[in-house]
Formats: sequence, structure tokens, C-alpha cells
Amino acid sequence: MKKTTFTLLYLLIGCFVMTSCQSNSYITPPKFNAQRAFEYLEKQVAFGPRVPGSTASAECRDFFYTIFDSLEIPVDSQAFVFFDLYSQTNIPMVNVVASYVANPDFPTIVLMAHYDSRPRTDYPTDKSLLNKPIDGASDGASGVATLLELAHMFTQQAPSLNVDFVFVDGEDWGKSGDIQFYMLGSKEFARKGIRGKYKFGIVLDMIGDKDLTIYREQYSENSNKELNDIIFETAAKLQVDGFIDSVKYAISDDHLSLITAGIPSVDLIDFDYKYWHTEFDTPENCSAESLESVGRVVAEILYNKSLWQRTK
Ligand SMILES: [Zn+2]
Repeated sequence: MKKTTFTLLYLLIGCFVMTSCQSNSYITPPKFNAQRAFEYLEKQVAFGPRVPGSTASAECRDFFYTIFDSLEIPVDSQAFVFFDLYSQTNIPMVNVVASYVANPDFPTIVLMAHYDSRPRTDYPTDKSLLNKPIDGASDGASGVATLLELAHMFTQQAPSLNVDFVFVDGEDWGKSGDIQFYMLGSKEFARKGIRGKYKFGIVLDMIGDKDLTIYREQYSENSNKELNDIIFETAAKLQVDGFIDSVKYAISDDHLSLITAGIPSVDLIDFDYKYWHTEFDTPENCSAESLESVGRVVAEILYNKSLWQRTK
């Protein structure tokens, strides 16, 4: 009788400990500073179009190096030369790779965005701008800005994964239809031997739209449906705007370079951005809230092993 009582007592204590452990395992990420993220978007645009090989592109990279240095996150560059068939010249391109290590025993993932801006305006209202580069406020700068803010958050509190931040060049180089001349930086990154290095990848592209609409993208769904499930469940849980839980579009973007290299990856992209490849892809048509929506969802997953461990 006594023994039974003690056993019951131990069971009760055990249940209590387990329950409290489970609730304690949830980690609230540090606050996403939306204003600082948006300033990072504006700063990139202020350099001028970050066309590969341009002064603006080099100045923008220096800006990234300064931020990562200040956060004491080791950063390196990956330079390569692309022979451009359009101009029959060599175009120097550079990827920026910053490696945040929370714990050497943790798995590593890759967070990617392109920092180049398109060298031509495909759909200008002012036809004289047809062959002029775009500002790329959402198409490029928005993803990088959000990742820079995540880097700030990591230095406030470590996530439960190691993260390589990869800012790629030359994503948007090709003329419409010339798919082989797109995603140049991410292809170069993948060629360096990344197979098996990353548990998964997330690409952020065109997430600055004031009227944010991010659907599940088809190649992402094929590559890592589990991660897409977690992302859209998390967006619903956090009640952030802009995530619509259905598949729309199959988009050739930097995630394809990762997927081809065997990294199960997801692209978060708003392909309904009405200023896409126009002269109106400017900060005025972007919002801090949109960067925050995406940043909070990604952070929630990276800080909580109970979420990311469900991925491939
Ligand atoms: Zn583009």
C-alpha cells in the first residue's frame, strides 16, 4: 500500500517535470527589429543598382562586411568570373558568405538571398528605361535586409542551428527566357562542394512588397514539403500577414542551385509583386512590416528544434 502511494507520487512528479520541460523547451526569439531591417533595405538601394561588377555592388559588399564584422560573425567572399555572351566580356562576380556558429555540434543550414539588382528594366512604364538597371528594393535588397536583421538577433541569443548567410551575386543577370544566365552566384556557390554540408536551405527573394503574398512554391514543395509545412503552420500560429497556404507558381530561383546540390530547400518569394522588373521596384513600394513577417517566421523555426527537426 505504501509502495503504491510512493509509486503514484513519483509518477505524478515525473509527469509534472515532463510537462514543465516540454513547455520550457519553447524558445521565444529575440525581437525582430523591423525598422533596422528596413533601413538595411534602403541603404542597399542608396548605393545605386548593385549590378554585377559595378562600384555600387562593391560598396554594398563592403557594407555587408562592416555589419558582419561588427557582429563578430566571420565573413568571407567567393569571387569568380562570368564570361558574358551578351557583351563578350568577363564580368567579375562575388558571393558573400558569413558563417554563424552557435555550437559546433549543431547541424548547419544555409540562408540565402541575392544582392545583385537586375541590369535592365524589362517592363518599364517610361520606355527610355528599358536597358537601364533597376533599384531592386524588393527584388534582391529585401531578402538580404531580413537576413542581416536575423544575424543581429543571433548575436543577442543563439538559435538552435548553425547558419551560413549567403548573399549571392548574379541571380538576375539573364535576359528574359535565357534561364542559363540566371542564378549565377548560387550555381557557383553550389559548385564549391556543398553536398551534405547543410541540413536544409531557405532562400528569401522579393519579400518586401507592401502587399505581401507568399504562396508555397512548387519546386520547394517537391524538395522539402516538410519545411514548407512548418513555415506555413508557423505563419498561421504567429498570425503574420502575407502567407497564403496553397501552391502557386514554379519559380526558377536560387533555391534550384541548392536543390540540385542535394540540399532540401524552400524559396519564400512574393511573385505577385506588381512592380517586378519595373522602375517602381523602390523602397516606397516595400514595407518594414513585410520584412518582419518573414523574419519572424524564419526565426521562430531556427530557434525551436521542435520545429526544424521535423524537416528532411
Ligand atoms: Zn528579378
